[in-house]
Amino acid sequence: MTESDALAELDPAQVQAVEHGDGPLVIAAGAGTGKTRVLTARVARLLASGVAPERILLLTFTRRAASAMLSRAAALCGDAQAAQRIAGGTFHAVAHRIMAEHAQHLGLEDVTVIDPDDVVDLLDLLRAEHGLDGTAVRLPTTRTIADIASRVINTATPVRTVIEEQFPWALEQADAITGLLRDYRARKQERGLLDLDDLLIAWRALVADPDVGARLRARWDWVLVDEYQDVNRLQVDIVRGLRPDGRGLTVVGDDAQAVYAFRGASAGHLLEVTEAHPDATLVRLERNFRSTQPILDLANEVRPGELALRLVADRPQQGARPALVTCRNADDEARTIADRILAAHVDGMPLRAQAVLMRTGSHSAQLEVELKVRGIPFHKFGGIGYLETSHVRDLLASFRVVLNPADEVSWYRLLTRHRAIGKASARGLAAILADGGTDRAADAVAAAPAKARTGLASTLSLLGAVDAATPVPELVEACRGAMDPLLRGHYPDWHRRVTEVDGIAQAAAHQSDLRAFVSEQAIDPVNVAGDWAKQPHLDEDWLTLSTIHSAKGLEWDAVHLMRATDGAMPSDMALTSPAGLAEEQRLFYVALTRARDTLDVYAPSRLPTHPTAFMAKHVAAKPSRFLTEPARALMDPVRTAVPAPELSSGSATPRARVRLDAFDELFA
Ligand code: ATP
Ligand code: MG
Repeated sequence: MTESDALAELDPAQVQAVEHGDGPLVIAAGAGTGKTRVLTARVARLLASGVAPERILLLTFTRRAASAMLSRAAALCGDAQAAQRIAGGTFHAVAHRIMAEHAQHLGLEDVTVIDPDDVVDLLDLLRAEHGLDGTAVRLPTTRTIADIASRVINTATPVRTVIEEQFPWALEQADAITGLLRDYRARKQERGLLDLDDLLIAWRALVADPDVGARLRARWDWVLVDEYQDVNRLQVDIVRGLRPDGRGLTVVGDDAQAVYAFRGASAGHLLEVTEAHPDATLVRLERNFRSTQPILDLANEVRPGELALRLVADRPQQGARPALVTCRNADDEARTIADRILAAHVDGMPLRAQAVLMRTGSHSAQLEVELKVRGIPFHKFGGIGYLETSHVRDLLASFRVVLNPADEVSWYRLLTRHRAIGKASARGLAAILADGGTDRAADAVAAAPAKARTGLASTLSLLGAVDAATPVPELVEACRGAMDPLLRGHYPDWHRRVTEVDGIAQAAAHQSDLRAFVSEQAIDPVNVAGDWAKQPHLDEDWLTLSTIHSAKGLEWDAVHLMRATDGAMPSDMALTSPAGLAEEQRLFYVALTRARDTLDVYAPSRLPTHPTAFMAKHVAAKPSRFLTEPARALMDPVRTAVPAPELSSGSATPRARVRLDAFDELFA
């Protein structure tokens, strides 16, 4: 292929952006206008015009997005090998690579990266040490404290200010939280642990370093960033540090789709680039190539105010109006979604062209059961719950204590898998082991509850037989041997988990650098849950289930947006601040604009108070407040046909379920 192929199938505004020279370039445009396509074509064009792939850095929000763009660029420029040599990936993944290269300089040679769940575990450990773990203490949840920590870093704002602005109800505890977070930082350093924010901090520090920074600036001539509306302060600093004069910088985004304010992103970053570089070229793309006009009409109606232009469909055909499907309850919603997916399938739409999107991963609990019962294959992206990945993470924890015996959180995790060890003793034992690894096995065993001693001694002797210098396959084998009896005893459904544990063990055994592999699992958790054992085959047809966050930038012919009710979307948790509500609205907008041909929005009228609890109470639910009167006027109402089940024995609903529903009223 030639350079002109990269320009094929682009409209004049897009061609202008692709052909733009090396001056700073900002593409600010709405959903589906081809921003990502332009970025990809630009990469292909650079390659075709002789730029060495090593000189290009491509930053995206997910690993999936990076690999999709790189393979498309490879196809466009006809040189798959060249495209593979481009540095591409998420900010965190690239940060990790760079940090590993400069570990010595940073004094970070033996560190491991911990994921957000580990952060919570570590904070829990510290809370207990501070005596702040009792129910009597009115402190926010540990997860909220972790959020506060992240916000502090990502917005460069003092703890107290973050609490004042975002969590005012916790203000009384500001000193306790600040103390806890100070200790959290110290403990990470002491134990050789880096959280995801630390990776960005390390990258930024390297960019700011006179010597290393100069080398990093000289390394890439071209820095291209997709979804720039969602970068946070640290990421802005990194990009600016890499391209201070904006030469070779391309940033692409849509303010109306900013959905990571909770992580410290703030709309306006795109504009900031044009302000920082008066010579920047601002390109706006106006035609939407993705969706039909009726879908865009709804999206325009829902779109948060001032920010963006109205989207106009480039596609000639009209297409169906979005459906607003009112269902009776969560079970009815699950059945109806499955029905409509199958109906579309019968009409010739493969499962692969359809997706079910949701605000929060737990919303699909009933749907997943329904899909399994009906034999509809699916894969779920984003929001993967603790339970689904915990066994995989247990095995990773065993690798980590071998690679870094000071890793207190991993010791803690592993110890709690012992039947006879409770949380409090696990904390004490983790502290002992983190201070000397398996060399302190005897001390740990002596300190363990009597019932746990034999088991613990055996675990520690198996782990103690290997260390960071052991060949990887042998190390993995030993960890597997140590963990097997623990996990078997810990998980009642072990038989369902064992394949995944096998999968990750096999993948790990083939690594040349196990430390990097383990850290990558913390950086991109999709990959952990992401099905080592059940990686979807390309020739199979399967449905996508995804959180809206994980669906960013993607598209499907048919989108089923489930649980569009107040409380779920917007999420109750976001209602504490106007900023939170605005973010939910942008998220809703992102969801609607994923659809190409058909869009079904589902609103159950009764919902369980807890999404996964089997016996949860059911309460009335209303359609999302974002579906205003004018918005609903753009939709076709659909009601599920089956009448309310109230005591009617003739309905298709299993009897037991009818009875449970009836009991709910007693507890309302
Ligand atoms: P988002 O904001 O959701 O990330 P985007 O602006 O990145 O959207 P793309 O994903 O690049 O948009 O493009 C949306 C769809 O339109 C894709 O299927 C893409 O292939 C198609 N498309 C883009 N430009 C053109 C064009 N000039 N002609 C035909 N199809 C196009
Ligand atoms: Mg895009």
